[in-house]
Amino acid sequence: MLGYLLARAGVDTVVLEKHKDFFRDFRGDTIHPSTIDLIDQLGLREKFDAIHQSHIHTLDVVINGNRLTPVDFSKLRGRNDYIALMPQWDFLSLIADEGRKIPNFHLLMGAEATGLVREGDRVSGVTATSGADVLTITADLTIAADGRDSTLRDAAGLVPKDYGVAVDVLWFRLPRTKVDPPDTLAYLDTESMVITIPREDYYQSGMLIPKGDYPSVQKAGLPEFRARIVRVAPFLSEVVDSVTSWDQVKLLTVQVNRLSQWWLDGLLCIGDAAHAMSPAFGVGINYAIQDAVAAANLLVDGLRKGTLSTSDLARVEKRRLSPVRRMQPIQLRLHDVIAKPGGGGFLANPMTWWQRGLAGILLPILRLFTARVIGRGFRPEKLGPQLEPLR
Ligand SMILES: Cc1cc2nc3c(=O)[nH]c(=O)nc-3n(C[C@H](O)[C@H](O)[C@H](O)COP(=O)(O)OP(=O)(O)OC[C@H]3O[C@@H](n4cnc5c(N)ncnc54)[C@H](O)[C@@H]3O)c2cc1C
Repeated sequence: MLGYLLARAGVDTVVLEKHKDFFRDFRGDTIHPSTIDLIDQLGLREKFDAIHQSHIHTLDVVINGNRLTPVDFSKLRGRNDYIALMPQWDFLSLIADEGRKIPNFHLLMGAEATGLVREGDRVSGVTATSGADVLTITADLTIAADGRDSTLRDAAGLVPKDYGVAVDVLWFRLPRTKVDPPDTLAYLDTESMVITIPREDYYQSGMLIPKGDYPSVQKAGLPEFRARIVRVAPFLSEVVDSVTSWDQVKLLTVQVNRLSQWWLDGLLCIGDAAHAMSPAFGVGINYAIQDAVAAANLLVDGLRKGTLSTSDLARVEKRRLSPVRRMQPIQLRLHDVIAKPGGGGFLANPMTWWQRGLAGILLPILRLFTARVIGRGFRPEKLGPQLEPLR
């Protein structure tokens, strides 16, 4: 996204992607309202809407048999009052295809950054491999947007502080059931938490397990894994047998971390490379994209004029650190209290009279904030006039 925004605004940009295509395993399909707002600003709405997608308007959770709606995106202003669900590769392909139309956007697929080039203390580019070729690419600014296991961040010697989440997620797909319950994000009880993100033909499903517990889940066997899913979400009994091998189950090691400094002279880390978010509320993609917009807004002038300095990079960090520093503790708290195996035990089944009363008072108040905080983030970014394409 940052490569595209800068190229569109007249800056020569080289984007390296180590894979030959974007067709990767599931790593989040959520496109939040603030990203859809950005798509509108970029004039890409028609093409975005043409991508096969589904929409969710509320995030329901079923806690120990009690259905609650803590998030209702219809509370948002504007027409983008939903989360769009589409494969990440379709979204990335849209941005890449638009980029390819711009002469100064150079996307090198199958090109893996392997290290940094330095001139004295300054980072002046990257080394990379592309098939058998070894490349050296020099640049006024290098962006590390290479994800939670960032090679470039490591090469720079920047080490994120880890905030420790005690859960991992096992992701898998289940076919849709014949009789569908209303769209539901997750089912929690006193034993498990199972995520059921509704897609058109399937549920993108996940089970939260204690961190490092996957080997013992495997040891207990697939029948027990399937039974555990059904115990917390009984409606899945008719489809759970579709999980017949551990190959269908992918482990996500949940991380919440961030760098104390996102930049060196000539280098800036953004997205997961600067701050890995937990999957709670599915905001990782949104935050990465918001970083890209903020960076483009703040850096484009310096890049055009050749005057970019470390204080410009520090301004990007300052702008984006604040929303990250507010969202990560919310995610951590959520994992401590509810979003963990057995986290649903705090509600009785059925709820006691005082739990019903409290939910009746608290949920409408919560809904006033949650849609905005989750859907748009603490600091939604907009394209500045400096990012208008040069004519
Ligand atoms: C299983 C899973 C489920 C998730 N679910 C959600 C969700 O529902 N919603 C949500 O918002 N977030 C989700 N996330 C998190 C989300 O994927 C990330 O927060 C988001 O993608 C971060 O974007 P990014 O661009 O910083 O990094 P990434 O999306 O990780 O992109 C980094 C890119 O750099 C490439 N790359 C890496 N190293 C190199 C290299 N050395 N040279 C060249 N290219 C390289 C990678 O191939 C990749 O394409 C999930 C993550 C996982 C793993």
